Amino acid sequence: VTILGIESSCDDTAAAVVRGTPRNAGILSDVVFGQTEIHANFGGVVPEIAARAHAEKIDYVIGQALAAANTNVTDLDAIAVTAGPGLIGGVLSGVMCAKGLSAASGVPLIGVNHLAGHALTPQLTDGVEFPYLMLLVSGGHCQFLLVEGHDSYTRLGGTIDDAPGEAFDKTARILGLPQPGGPSVEVAAREGNATAFSLPRPLLNRDDCNMSFSGLKTAILRARDDVISDCGGLPTQARADLCAGFQTAVTDVLVAKSRKALTAARALAPSVKTIAVAGGVAANSQIRDALKQFCVEESVEFVAPPLSLCTDNAAMIAYAGLLRFTDGMFDDLTLSARPRWPLDQKSASLTGSGK
Ligand code: ATP
Ligand code: FE
Repeated sequence: VTILGIESSCDDTAAAVVRGTPRNAGILSDVVFGQTEIHANFGGVVPEIAARAHAEKIDYVIGQALAAANTNVTDLDAIAVTAGPGLIGGVLSGVMCAKGLSAASGVPLIGVNHLAGHALTPQLTDGVEFPYLMLLVSGGHCQFLLVEGHDSYTRLGGTIDDAPGEAFDKTARILGLPQPGGPSVEVAAREGNATAFSLPRPLLNRDDCNMSFSGLKTAILRARDDVISDCGGLPTQARADLCAGFQTAVTDVLVAKSRKALTAARALAPSVKTIAVAGGVAANSQIRDALKQFCVEESVEFVAPPLSLCTDNAAMIAYAGLLRFTDGMFDDLTLSARPRWPLDQKSASLTGSGK
């Protein structure tokens, strides 16, 4: 089976071709055109600009993916496209393009939930078997999912405010470090003392899997202002200490909540043997190492897909499409683009009014 995947829900225009079976799929091509530079001067992704950039680039990116896979539209078994959740203008660009290709070629259309793409990636890269626990930590998302099948998810908890990636980015901005904040905070933290400042770990002792990161960012802002008023500026060491303290606080929260999520997951699916991570924040070595250590203690397997497949890409969408294809789950030209689409809401309602 050969599937084209299309992804345009945030600030990456992506297309990929995946071929094979659910248990043995290979990525023939994986093209990502990032918009980071386009949004660089705005301090965040501007939805209107993103939508226009997707619309301008998407044909080109799809052409590149098909050419790199040495295939063309008529050879495809299906066209899988992210139908949400995400910035609606971007999602629409992808969905309209996929519909056009499908209508013109007769190749079936499959709508995919972007979060399902992330959640299924460990199966594509490492052959992880259901059920498993997934921690999705990116710039826009932070949630624990019990994955029991490609169309069977339970959200066990998540952030009630900012995502960790967003908190890294804001912390970098507060401390005058370059964007994206994750890597620059991580580098600065290496020279810092994590206990120099006392920083909060919100909701740490609450007995659920929910998290909160916006208070941490506010604490960083206050601590910075205190240092500046005492020292007349922000010394390099204080900046490093704040980065180290911030990163350690995020790590502590993610590990403590992973423990609660594993208990919750096992209560629903006792055979859970794996914790997998996805999202850009999974690139952080302190967080990664702490989660790995936690998994050793709990005797569960830890899986972190390669970073290029942890962040937004279309190979994950093509693979999710392949699994839906195998179960005959197709969509038609009434497929709607949806800004919100919780994973544990069954996809049968995807086609049609979009409500
Ligand atoms: P989403 O995929 O949820 O739509 P996104 O595209 O912003 O959101 P990703 O591309 O998965 O998310 O990840 C980007 C985020 O990961 C940024 O917020 C970035 O700061 C963070 N990040 C990247 N590298 C690191 C790192 N080494 N440590 C911590 N955070 C990191
Ligand atoms: Fe994503």
